[in-house]
Amino acid sequence: MSGGEIVAPTHMYIGHPSWDLKVLAEFVGGCGAGRIYCALQPNGDVSPCVFMPRIILGNITESSFIDIWEKNEVMRRLRNRSLLKGHCGNCKYKHVCGGCRARALGYFNDIMAPDSGCIRELEEPSIRFARALEAEHARMPRVSEGRRNML
Ligand code: SF4
Repeated sequence: MSGGEIVAPTHMYIGHPSWDLKVLAEFVGGCGAGRIYCALQPNGDVSPCVFMPRIILGNITESSFIDIWEKNEVMRRLRNRSLLKGHCGNCKYKHVCGGCRARALGYFNDIMAPDSGCIRELEEPSIRFARALEAEHARMPRVSEGRRNML
């Protein structure tokens, strides 16, 4: 489909306008954390995604990468969309989207929680709460860099 061009098929890749994006979306399956990619930190630590640096699944100086990739329980959970919670768990698009697992972790400290960034989630009480917190945070006065250094 790429016409000989090298492509990186991630959920952020737009592709060529003539491509069948529905096919690509179904192939990629949405959030790729622990499914089609992971993050390798400079010290050898492996995380499911660059946006989840505090989730350390193992270290390639101590274990084989294949073992971490194939056997780690967090990786296995991320590949199982039937474990998704809230609106993501009930969503008809969960197999082509699955929501951002890093955002779920950031807002709810749970990698299987709903994605608060989705417009389909607006009616979920926990999402309304997260959005209200976000709005409150946005209203807080900004601390200048010099002042921040003094704190
Ligand atoms: S609720 Fe939204 S973020 Fe979650 S799977 Fe459905 S479309 Fe994706």
